[in-house]
Amino acid sequence: MLVTLNDPRDAQRVAARLQALGLWTEPLTHGSATRALLVRADSAHVSAELIEAIDGVAAVLMPPRIHPRVDALAGTCVTVGPLTIGAGALPVLIAGPCSVESVAQIDAAARAVKAAGGSVLRGGAFKPRSSPYSFSGHGRDALDWLYDAGQANGLAVVTEVLSERDVEVVAARADMLQVGSRNMQAFALLKAVGSAGKPVMLKRGMAATVEEWLLAAEHLLLAGASGVVFCERGLRSFDPSTRNLLDLGAVALLAHVHRLPVVVDPSHAAGRRDLIAPLARAALAAGAHGLIVECHPEPGRAASDGPQALDPDALADLARHCEVYPAPKGSAP
Ligand code: PEP
Ligand code: MN
Repeated sequence: MLVTLNDPRDAQRVAARLQALGLWTEPLTHGSATRALLVRADSAHVSAELIEAIDGVAAVLMPPRIHPRVDALAGTCVTVGPLTIGAGALPVLIAGPCSVESVAQIDAAARAVKAAGGSVLRGGAFKPRSSPYSFSGHGRDALDWLYDAGQANGLAVVTEVLSERDVEVVAARADMLQVGSRNMQAFALLKAVGSAGKPVMLKRGMAATVEEWLLAAEHLLLAGASGVVFCERGLRSFDPSTRNLLDLGAVALLAHVHRLPVVVDPSHAAGRRDLIAPLARAALAAGAHGLIVECHPEPGRAASDGPQALDPDALADLARHCEVYPAPKGSAP
């Protein structure tokens, strides 16, 4: 911030007062006169009002916030149907298959999610695939199957929007819209998704900085999104040992410093089902407000991402061992 002075002769005295408050200052001198002091705003938690009250200070000029709408969400929760996600709420379990494949498949998955104690059903109707020859989802039909499975099992629904032209149809069936990692900076899509006025789960781009992630959320909020749930799903790294590199530092930063709702996707991070439980526990320990996990009634037959899908028993185990959801009655500890 910039602290301007009434009289250059006050510079030394005001600087000494600021330093006594623990603030780092640097005089901005023109010729021989110091008319302002540069103060690093984050060097101590001192309010602008306190500085303005110092004798000799003319004004305190704060740099404009770059994502004011995101900053205003600090400490708040996002409402998704009957659910709240964020600080102070019970961590939420979002689960379901990578792709919605059939009525029977999504219904079995929804029952498994419900039985495990989950509250949101995930499933892709429009799938972003690296190869144009891979299964790319059943589109609008799958949206209806997903919606029905959610309704029948008392689960909210989240699903990805790939294109601006699908926003309306997805928003009519989903409680929360998902923006995928590959589209985190597709700004026209963000604008269209935000304008639906619904909560959005914003997956972090696989090579996006935290600031770019926050700015992408600002696009959504500016366009009208009712809230943003940030989702860390791992970054592209040099090491192919795991599918992606799960950035739990960013999760802790969002949860504890920015105080924003953040969930973790250990499935896309690990790329393999045996690492989902340990990563999920680590995510919650880092402050995540929920998990989004891929599960499939028959992972061996999954049309996409089978190796990282849990079966219904493993999903129930995960929910129990993360100790965040009330264990279903009669279940083993
Ligand atoms: C997904 O959640 O189905 C997905 C495609 O994830 P991501 O965008 O993180 O790759
Ligand atoms: Mn997937």
